[in-house]
Amino acid sequence: MRNLDIFNESKKYMPGGVNSPVRAFKDATVDPPVIKKGYGAYLEDEEGNTYVDFIGAWGPMILGHCDEDVVNAIKTTCETQIAFGAPTELELKLAKHICTTVDNIDMIRMVNSGTEATMSAVKLARGFTGRDKIVKFAGNYHGHFESFLVSAGSGVMTEGIPGCAGVPEESVKNTIVAQYNNIENIRCIFDKYGSQIAAVIIEPVAGNMGVVPAKPEFLKGLSDICKENGALLIFDEVMSGFRVAYKGAQSFYGVKPDLVTFAKIMGGGLPCGAYGGRRDVMEHLSPMGPVYQAGTMSGNPVVMAAGLATLTKLYNNPYYYEKIERLAAMLENGVKEIAKEKGLPILVNRFQSMMTIFFTNEEKIENYEDAKKCDTNLYRLFFEHMLKGGIYMAPSQFEAMFLSVKHTEKEIEKFLDVMRTFNI
Ligand code: PMP
Repeated sequence: MRNLDIFNESKKYMPGGVNSPVRAFKDATVDPPVIKKGYGAYLEDEEGNTYVDFIGAWGPMILGHCDEDVVNAIKTTCETQIAFGAPTELELKLAKHICTTVDNIDMIRMVNSGTEATMSAVKLARGFTGRDKIVKFAGNYHGHFESFLVSAGSGVMTEGIPGCAGVPEESVKNTIVAQYNNIENIRCIFDKYGSQIAAVIIEPVAGNMGVVPAKPEFLKGLSDICKENGALLIFDEVMSGFRVAYKGAQSFYGVKPDLVTFAKIMGGGLPCGAYGGRRDVMEHLSPMGPVYQAGTMSGNPVVMAAGLATLTKLYNNPYYYEKIERLAAMLENGVKEIAKEKGLPILVNRFQSMMTIFFTNEEKIENYEDAKKCDTNLYRLFFEHMLKGGIYMAPSQFEAMFLSVKHTEKEIEKFLDVMRTFNI
């Protein structure tokens, strides 16, 4: 009962018992386990139950939980540097590392979350172009900043709400929602508003309506249209950055974004975010330029150390990406085989180690409308079955599954074994 006792008491002090809504398992008939420990590919709850983790803290834990090098970097740093609000060499090291190893990042600004990164990138784009309108895609999630909370993915999609209370009409009047993977729709929007659009923000591999990769010709077309109209293209790689490849989703598409946002993996599991890109755009940021954006904790040394340890390890071990892609393919194939044997209505979308098992009879899922047709109740039953069997995956259909380099064939087999005992 310890899990339940803690969770119930948490509800007295924190809305829903959580600090972020999806953790509450709101639509499930089970309560969330209260996690005590993480090691490698495993989690342990307060009652000593263990789970193979397929959430990975919603993306960051690509090296697995409590990776030795990350833990050491955090320990060593916090002995002498916790917070200064002043320049440090550690922030330079991480900034330089990202600028020199990832394409199209001339300069970067550290912040504390993905939300801050996307919100600031859009403000910068507006300041740079002198335009107000932004285009976002239905089913993409860019954090909880007001202007993005229209037809958003992730928890917003799970809760089935079109927008969000507390967001004045004023805050979203400059947000245009477009259909993912539909270039005609983008053309129409630009025909009408082209000269007013500051930026288009997109998850190049969407993970927040479940995994839905952009089609290459769509991204290429989008990039061309942005260029023709003087709008900036912002790739939100908060989830896909350092995940689908070290150099992120942009490395698969041959499209050059003007700005890129990061978070999750780049902070090694500590609160972190960043946005970077074209030098002439980044130089519009205060103190160099007129776009004001600041942060007491931005570039915090302990966070920088965790991020640097994570990114250098990933960079120095490119085979990690081959390994997790191979395991993800094994998982995908196994899931498809079992679904076929059992007659389960399943469609798998996967891009490298980001993957979603959609419960649907549709033949493809390419956008928000397709994703919304899924049988979320069947997904819920599946999720609850998997959890009981020791597999920790997202409680919502509209999320991605993540693997870490600590996963092996054994953990994938375990997933498939538990799935084999799922009956509708
Ligand atoms: N952008 C994307 C693509 C995300 O997946 C998320 C979070 N899942 C965010 C932005 C917001 O990041 P954060 O939760 O760190 O604010």
